[in-house]
Amino acid sequence: MRSHRGWAECSKEAFNTGLDALARALKNWSDSRKGARKGRAVGFPRFKSRRRSTPTVRFTTGVMRIEADRRHVVLPRLGALRLHESARKLARRLEAGTARIMSATVRREGGRWFVSFTCEVERAVRAPARPGSMVGVDLGVKHLAVLSTGERVANPRHLVVAARRMRRLARAVSRCVTPDRRVRRVGSNRWARAQQELSRAHARVVGLRRDGLHQFTTRLTREHGTVVVEDLNVAGMLRNRRLARHVADASFAEVRRQLTYKSEWNGGRLVTAGRWYPSSKTCSGCGAVKTKLTLAERTYTCTACGLSLDRDLNAALNLAALAREVTDDRSGRESLNGRGADQKTRSRGQVAVKRLPGTARAGQAGTVPPQGGTTAQRSLLSTRR
Ligand SMILES: [Zn+2]
Repeated sequence: MRSHRGWAECSKEAFNTGLDALARALKNWSDSRKGARKGRAVGFPRFKSRRRSTPTVRFTTGVMRIEADRRHVVLPRLGALRLHESARKLARRLEAGTARIMSATVRREGGRWFVSFTCEVERAVRAPARPGSMVGVDLGVKHLAVLSTGERVANPRHLVVAARRMRRLARAVSRCVTPDRRVRRVGSNRWARAQQELSRAHARVVGLRRDGLHQFTTRLTREHGTVVVEDLNVAGMLRNRRLARHVADASFAEVRRQLTYKSEWNGGRLVTAGRWYPSSKTCSGCGAVKTKLTLAERTYTCTACGLSLDRDLNAALNLAALAREVTDDRSGRESLNGRGADQKTRSRGQVAVKRLPGTARAGQAGTVPPQGGTTAQRSLLSTRR
């Protein structure tokens, strides 16, 4: 089955997906060299092994639809595929004409197949429950976040909980007949099963964390008119030098990414404090700035006015105050935000039509919009046809 598949048997998209990704990688690299691209320098694309990458294919042309039962999707070449979850949310939008499927991506994660749709969506204008409310969010490791309202959002630490089971599964994998290409040994069936169980455990942790973050960011943006967060690098570099840095970093970035688009969806505003804004060292009562504050000091005590409160709450209060400053003095201070797009506010009563940067047309694989465009709905595919 491996390399004997005929050209005609495969969808041409299987090849195009890889070529499209390569084309984008090359463009990013050359734009980065020419200085036409923001952000970190992009390197030359590296070789990608099919053995170590996530199998994925993106369909951009042909029939892509959801069957009337909302339990099957139809994709080019593959035909109708049964879903584990109902696709009713997307189906409703498609029926109402407020969404149009641009592309469909099928990928395997943790031993399961997923399909996600990139859609052009017309969103109804929404307003947060409390448009005038401003909330500062201090992201951390001990707590996922401390809000300026005094609320502490717990960090569920799914990985720590699952670690024991994962160790056991990993041991089971290593005891099996593992594949070894040097001696042309293929893995045993037991190995494949054990491996699958382990990757399921990992995927479960990922899923739990993702669900928690989504619920948190949705709640924040639906409720408050203005959400203030720190620039990522402050949190990443100054705070968690030791524990679970990578995990935490990834979550911080994800929280900010979700807040960015969700605040726009919900008609709110996201303000990002500058990288060097001393949110932890400033007194939220009198504004005095300490020169030094060690990580061990969990309580902030002001030497100027004597105020004493929890360190993270103090930081969150400062962030909320920063938003007030931005609002009062709209002219020049907008640059507090590193990325201009984050602060965009929309006038009400206007229908927002989200558009992708490029519009895909049938037969033009080269003009496919970049991934992560507008909205994507993930559905779990059943492995049985
Ligand atoms: Zn003070």
